[in-house]
Amino acid sequence: MVVDPRRLVPRTDAVLADPRLAAAAGRLGPAIVRSAVAAARQRARDGEIPPGDVPDTAVAALPERACGLHPVVNATGVLLHTNLGRAPLSAAARDAVAAAAGCVDVEYDLATGRRGPRGRGALDALRAACPAAGAAQVVNNNAAALALAATALAAGREIVIGRGELVEIGDGFRLPDLLASTGARLREVGTTNRTTAADYAGAVGAETGFIMKVHPSNFRIEGFTAAADVADLVPLGVPVVVDIGSGLLAPDPALPDEPDAASVLAAGAALVTASGDKLLGGPQAGLLLGEPGIVERLRRHPLYRALRVDKMTLAALEATLRGPRPPVTRMLHADVAGLRERAEALAGEFRAHGVDARAADSTAAVGGGGAPGVGLPSAAVSLPSSCEPALRARGVIGRVEDGRLLLDLRSAGPAADGALREAVLGAAAPAAREGN
Ligand SMILES: *Cc1c(COP(=O)(O)O)cnc(C)c1O
Repeated sequence: MVVDPRRLVPRTDAVLADPRLAAAAGRLGPAIVRSAVAAARQRARDGEIPPGDVPDTAVAALPERACGLHPVVNATGVLLHTNLGRAPLSAAARDAVAAAAGCVDVEYDLATGRRGPRGRGALDALRAACPAAGAAQVVNNNAAALALAATALAAGREIVIGRGELVEIGDGFRLPDLLASTGARLREVGTTNRTTAADYAGAVGAETGFIMKVHPSNFRIEGFTAAADVADLVPLGVPVVVDIGSGLLAPDPALPDEPDAASVLAAGAALVTASGDKLLGGPQAGLLLGEPGIVERLRRHPLYRALRVDKMTLAALEATLRGPRPPVTRMLHADVAGLRERAEALAGEFRAHGVDARAADSTAAVGGGGAPGVGLPSAAVSLPSSCEPALRARGVIGRVEDGRLLLDLRSAGPAADGALREAVLGAAAPAAREGN
């Protein structure tokens, strides 16, 4: 009589006793290990694997960590890719996050043993990096910074804003809707393409909470255009709040059209808001920089408490500001000849393994987070587009252009070369060799 192999499937408890799985249960938690074991037993019952392979199959199926986020290589050429987590943190910032993940003195004074000001290190670092700001605060993201400013300074009153600056930031979210959701009324002035200081002057009055300027960070209007400068609006006598978007604290010659906090504050803005995870190169955060009286009003508003950042964000932000140049800054300033050299070297290695690879010129972009329309000369490894799914499965995200998969090396820094090599040689080789 033949024994049905399904009856030989080992019992769950027996499989869980495997030392590798027992260790994994300690590291990942029992639920994750149990579900890997259940899946492996099911495969054995379905006859897909021999019953004796259940433990090995479960071990092979274990995730690396108890979190479903997969680290990826951003080879898209978009330096700040919102879907891929925007700015990658520097090693210093990652280390700071790991250290802050335990118990830390985020709101405690080690010298006195009493409660201390929350996140002082990050705020000091922010003011040191942007001396034009009399005061600084940090909230969850730039959208939160805007919501707080609108609530604290203009709820029930008017925000005067140019029609060319009514921006949709992505995923259907529109800044004018966000501002209006706080109870402030938007007073639109000017036209889509032209708005002058006189337009603002005509709208400012007793109902004005502030004038809002928003950097059109993800689109460009060209041709017959005009926009008022901050300096022309300051004399109107109401606070000018400027959303600069990307978080450059000082001008960057590589992006001459990108606004920066120092220049906008020097022009007389009362408050600047920006993201922490765009060109600043840090964690997701909303920066509030400006006049001490206004920043303090925001910090004292009850809504602030709902928007404040956690200890890991404060740690990453401080380390980004005090530490070595973050990856985004290095990518932005990388010399194209060096990128080309890396592309040639990688493509040569891949060809030596029979992969249809070559170095190609590419054009990278800052991304939705800044500098719209600015092309950054770059270099890429060009592969058959048929490699795309296999590389994506291994966490390498490129972009398909003219029937080829381009792995852009401006957004994937030199530290990614090892991962690119492993992914291409490991997974893409069979598809690439077909030469399609
Ligand atoms: C990106 C952006 C925002 C939104 O910032 P988050 O930090 O993602 O909330 C708001 N305004 C402008 C101009 C932006 O570019």
